[in-house]
This record gives sequence, structure tokens and C-alpha cells, in this order.
Amino acid sequence: MMHQPLSIGALIDHAARYHADTEIVSALTEGGFERTSWGQVGANAHRVGSALRARGMEPGDRIGTLAWNNRRHLELYFGVPGMGMVCHTLNPRLAPDQLVYIVNHASDRMLFIEKTFVPVIAGLRDQMPSIRGIVMLGARDDEAAAAIPGLLFHDELLAEGDATAPWEALDENAPSSLCYTSGTTGNPKGVLYSHRSTIFHAVFANNPDGLAISGADSVMPVVPMFHVNAWGIPYAAAAVGSRLILPGPRLDGESLAHLIVDEKVTVAAGVPTIWLGLLNALETTGLKPESLRRTIVGGSAMPPSMRAAFRDRHGVELVQAWGMTETSPLATMNAPLAKHRALPFEEQDRIANGQGRPVFGVELRIVDSEGRVLPEDGVTEGELQVRGHWIVHTYFGQEKPALTYDGWFDTGDISTIDPDGYMVIRDRSKDIIKSGGEWISTVDLENIAVSHPKVANAAAIAARHPKWDERPVICCQKRPQSDLTEEELLAFYDGKVPRWQKPDRVVFVDTLPLGATGKVVKATLRQEHGNVLWDDAVAEIEAEKAASGTSEA
Ligand code: AMP
Repeated sequence: MMHQPLSIGALIDHAARYHADTEIVSALTEGGFERTSWGQVGANAHRVGSALRARGMEPGDRIGTLAWNNRRHLELYFGVPGMGMVCHTLNPRLAPDQLVYIVNHASDRMLFIEKTFVPVIAGLRDQMPSIRGIVMLGARDDEAAAAIPGLLFHDELLAEGDATAPWEALDENAPSSLCYTSGTTGNPKGVLYSHRSTIFHAVFANNPDGLAISGADSVMPVVPMFHVNAWGIPYAAAAVGSRLILPGPRLDGESLAHLIVDEKVTVAAGVPTIWLGLLNALETTGLKPESLRRTIVGGSAMPPSMRAAFRDRHGVELVQAWGMTETSPLATMNAPLAKHRALPFEEQDRIANGQGRPVFGVELRIVDSEGRVLPEDGVTEGELQVRGHWIVHTYFGQEKPALTYDGWFDTGDISTIDPDGYMVIRDRSKDIIKSGGEWISTVDLENIAVSHPKVANAAAIAARHPKWDERPVICCQKRPQSDLTEEELLAFYDGKVPRWQKPDRVVFVDTLPLGATGKVVKATLRQEHGNVLWDDAVAEIEAEKAASGTSEA
């Protein structure tokens, strides 16, 4: 058989040749949309990549991007690795000191930024010594040029570049892109993807039981392009020639609802908080997402009530996926098996509410705290470990592999796995509530809270407790104008969980703190509300002691 190294350059050339006129719709940061095509994106990828090489960038150099989901960012997704450099997506929502840490750690040599970030980067420029040039994603702009001396412009680089320049000849194991983990504990760590891992992920994860996107789809990745390559969707879309709808910076429910209807989106992907926002917006605007077939939900647990609401009210199928920055990210996706068709609806529903089963190329196992492999019986909970073709081996810049002695990556998640490989995340190991030696899943408590009609969103946290170590507390964001009380929400748990798992308190918050990737930051909630039970519980214990002392006397 022929051998051709797998390469992102070949991927965009395929899209540009066989899907040349398939549309890419891209929201502009300043408002409005632009329409381009795989043919134009392909030509521009060659242009921008060759212009960077002409300006002295070498294979292996990291090129940072600070950008939303739009056409120019897409050109960098292909043009940078096509010419052998590494596309390093940076998260614009990071605090400035974290941004500087990551740019320096990666030794980025160029930085492509949205116009919005010109002032921030102008202020941080001196702290990033590896940077040789900064490029604004747009046409020449005098105001921006005055803010950053020597500022370059994406559109001028395109004009300098050559649409026919050949791609760099690369080994398929050469690095293609770099993404840092959110770093909720310690410093963020870089995961360096290769051409091979990216192409495998794009093709294997997009099977009929996986992403299931085709050339007939209009796909909208709401998951940011700065977060794990937008779950690899731009690459999967290029492989099959899907129409792509890039939503830019406006990710509120109403903007997305309009975009879905106007652009006839058929498949979308993003974190649950985005879809809760969309669900509310569909109700308030009355818009009908008639074209939308399915939505891939991952990043944190999908509430079953949200899946039911989309299915019953809007005819949209929500498919849960699980993964991490370290797993490229798609590792499991939920699709039924032939034998499930004969099961009662409730049983099919229960299976569909889990995180799904591994796609070919990924293996899972659960282990106990000593690393002993646990049974996959759908009941036993353990620490989830993973291995496969697109799973991290060693973090960028580190010497020691990030793996167990026998070659598995420890995810930090607690899960069950059933005999067919269907996996259910019970919690993050650092979030799970340890009450009197027993574990309480915050996921279960949150799913119940968000199924209450007066709740907009909720997070369960461990609050310190003098007797039980930790007890569950719900941080709840009510729906607007809702008259929900603490007693009402606590009573809602009766009969749904064993009594000892029922939350002790509800704390109402205006909004839940969301991290840079749209996930609720439980560490912040624990800091703010982790002590709400302590004083009352201590007083109660002392009162009990005093009472028993009296009765003994
Ligand atoms: P990140 O690397 O920022 O994408 O975060 C990865 C983590 O997100 C995983 O380790 C999980 O804890 C969580 N996560 C991702 N997908 C899911 C899901 N479908 N259900 C529950 N947690 C998830």
C-alpha cells in the first residue's frame, strides 16, 4: 500500500478541492457576518502559512492565537500547521498574568489577536520576550497600529503570501497545535497535538455513532476554537466538507437561536450552560430551531431534564460526549446499540443520559485508590483512566510522561463503566462530596435542581461540616422573577435521593461563576459558601452535648 504521512495540509487541500464552494459563515466581532468557502479558506491557509515562513518562522515554532470562532482563526488552524508550525490557541478569558505565563511557557514567536485585545496585549507586550511579531486579525487599522508599534495585519499577510506555496514536508508525528489546560489547580499544562493524532481524531470521532457530521450538514461549533481545537470540529468538518457556521464572540442564547434559525444549522456542539441559555431563549423568543437535528453536549455533565426538554419541546436530540484537553478531546460519545431498541423507553433514556462509550481508538478503565482495576459492572465507582491514539503522553515542556507506570492517563474523574463500555461520570474527584466516609455525587444533586421549573442553573458543593466532614449545599440561580424558596427546593429532593444525600442548605446566587470555557467554577463557590454550615452545625453539636449532659445528670 502507498504510505502518505497524515497531515493537516492535506486535509484542507481535500476540503478546498472537493468542497470548494461549500459555505463558511462567520460572525464578525464588530457585528454582521461574512460568507466565504472551503476553497477560499484553503487558499488563504496557504497564503498566511507561506507569509509566516517568509517572515522567518520555522517549523516547530509556536504561533499564538487570541481569537473567537471566525474565518481568520480557521485559516490559522490549517495554514500554521500546514507549514509545519504549531497553532497555539490561547484563551482570551484568562487573567493577564496567566496569559503571560502561558505565552512565555510556550515561547510563542508570533501572536494573532482580535482587534478587541489590542489594548490588553499592548500593555503586556514587554512581558513576553519570545514574541517577534503581533498580527491583528483584520484589515489595516490606524488606531490599532498606533497602540502596538510594528503591528501587522492578517489581511496584509494574506496579500504577501502565496496561495500555491507547497506545504512543508512533515513527519505525521510532528506537532500541529497546542492547548493549555484550564489549570484550576496549579499552573496550566500544555497538551501538544500532532498531525497524526489530529487526523485520527477528526476521522474516527466523526463516525455515525460519534459526531456524525456529514457533507450535508451545517455545523455550528459553539465550543470555542481556543478550547481543545473546538473539539476537533473544524478538522472533522474539513474532512467531510460540512458547511460551517462560526458564531464569533456572541454566545448568548438569543444570538445563537437566531443564528440556528437564519443559517439552518443542523448540528451544534457546546457545553451545557450554553444550551441552558439557548433553551431559555427559545422560550422567550418563540423561535423554532426546526433545522437543528442534534447537539453534542460535553465539557460538564448534561442534565437529563435539559435533554428531555430539547427532545419534547423542540425535537432536538442532545448527545452527550466526554473528554478533556488531554484527550483531544472526544473519547466517549453516546449512541445506542441494536440490542437497546427492544428496551423499554425509560431504560433507553437512562443509557442515553450517560457519557456514552469509547469510540474506536480510545480505551477506558476504572481503578481504586491503589490502582487496582475495578469491575465494569455499571455500579462500581472508580478513578477513570484512558489510553489511545489521541491521548496525551507527556505535557509540553515536561520530561516525565503524564502516565501511570503501565501507560494509562489518570483523568481525575470518578465514573462507572458497564459491560458494554457505557461510562457515567459521577464527579470530578476534587468535587465529589465526602460525607461521613460515603460519597455523594454533585452531578446527581445538580441534575435534580435544574429539573425544577423555577431553577435557571445550579451547582452542588461540599461545605465543611464538624461532624460529617462535608455536606452538600446547593448554589442556585433562580429563573428571573421566580419566587422559589429554600424549603421548596429542599423538599424537591424528597424521594429522589436517599435522605442522607439530601442537601443541607440552598444558597441563592445572582449568577454562578463560569470559567473561561463556560464551566461552573466550583472552587470559587467552595471558597464563598464552603463554610455556610459550620457555625450552625457547631452550635447544634454543642447544644446536643449540653442536652445529653443535662439528661445524664
Ligand atoms: P477540560 O480539559 O477543560 O475540557 O476539562 C475536562 C473535564 O471536564 C473532564 O475531566 C470532566 O471532569 C469534565 N467533563 C467533560 N465532559 C464531561 C461530561 N460529558 N460529563 C461530565 N463531565 C465532563
